[in-house]
Amino acid sequence: MQPSSNVKIPEEHPLSSTKALESFGNELLAWYDEHKRKLPWRTSPSLYKTVVSEFMLQQTRISTVLPYFDRWLEKFPDFASLASAPEEKVVKAWEGLGYYSRARNLRKLAKEIQAFDAPPEDPETWQTFPGVGPYVSAAVTSISFGSASAVADGNVVRILTRIFSIDEQFKDGGTAQRKLRPLAQALLFSNRPGDYNQAVMELGATVCNRRSPLCMTCPVLQFCRAGQSGDAEAFPKIDQKKVQRLRIDRLWMVQDGALLLHKTPDDSKRLAGLYELPRPEDLPDSFRPKKTVHITTKRRAIANQSIEERILRAELKSYRKLSDAIDLEFIPFEKLNEVTLSGPHRKWVEELQKKLDFPEEVEL
Ligand code: SF4
Repeated sequence: MQPSSNVKIPEEHPLSSTKALESFGNELLAWYDEHKRKLPWRTSPSLYKTVVSEFMLQQTRISTVLPYFDRWLEKFPDFASLASAPEEKVVKAWEGLGYYSRARNLRKLAKEIQAFDAPPEDPETWQTFPGVGPYVSAAVTSISFGSASAVADGNVVRILTRIFSIDEQFKDGGTAQRKLRPLAQALLFSNRPGDYNQAVMELGATVCNRRSPLCMTCPVLQFCRAGQSGDAEAFPKIDQKKVQRLRIDRLWMVQDGALLLHKTPDDSKRLAGLYELPRPEDLPDSFRPKKTVHITTKRRAIANQSIEERILRAELKSYRKLSDAIDLEFIPFEKLNEVTLSGPHRKWVEELQKKLDFPEEVEL
């Protein structure tokens, strides 16, 4: 096997020779063949399953994706069924997975694939599809068509910076991925590129953990500088983003067995078309409640934001008129399953439906 990029690996590194690179690929793949997890997109694989899994797995854990993947395959078994499904149905099936533009892009991609006599096999064409960047194009084409394209994501950055003890301070994860892509390409085992890419990802997910990597049982320890010197956790060196703390109030307003929800405008960047409990500022000025009752406080983190959300019960008159306000809608409790709520709001609404004691008044 020849290195498949022009990157020069330093002579003193254990991976500097073609033979060592071959041995690295062989060790990694032998480990993968024996230890890979059984995942639904790996059993009887298909292009469609690979694409769906790669979209779902972006920024999302495998354990979260698993139940969605099976349900998705039942609803949309192939590109044709996904392409012809209404967008609301597709987004509804994605409810709770977050980053909903992935669902919309997946549907658009399915439509675009339909225009080809046969699906394209090169990463460049895949990168023209909606929602497909260098990572997904390399993953899909290497796994499905054996194209010699290395993936470079957070797992790969972690492994490479450790194997080569790369001291460079990256300003963010995306920059690290871009800079290390040629090195990832140099290590690609071109005889089995799809399996190699999956093996690296599997190593990053199960052995080369961010904290407490399992170096003593790692199949590539002999090639890894940081693993051998015991300072793997010092890599990668990436600037930490400052955590931004946000506090948001949400209103719980019920009338005649219907809950007031706010629909995020269709042209929003995030959560377009999804329903959430309204914030006071979502209501027209004259309808904003002066007094509320504190029900509960929820905390969650999105990227570098730490969000605290107080849920406040509010009483209002003239509900009917309020419901005419743009983007606000009373949804009967028995019909809540028919609309798409953002994941946390679905959980909160289900929890609060069962809760009837609302203590403590809070001034807004
Ligand atoms: S030896 Fe340790 S640091 Fe190196 S790749 Fe393996 S698990 Fe990661």
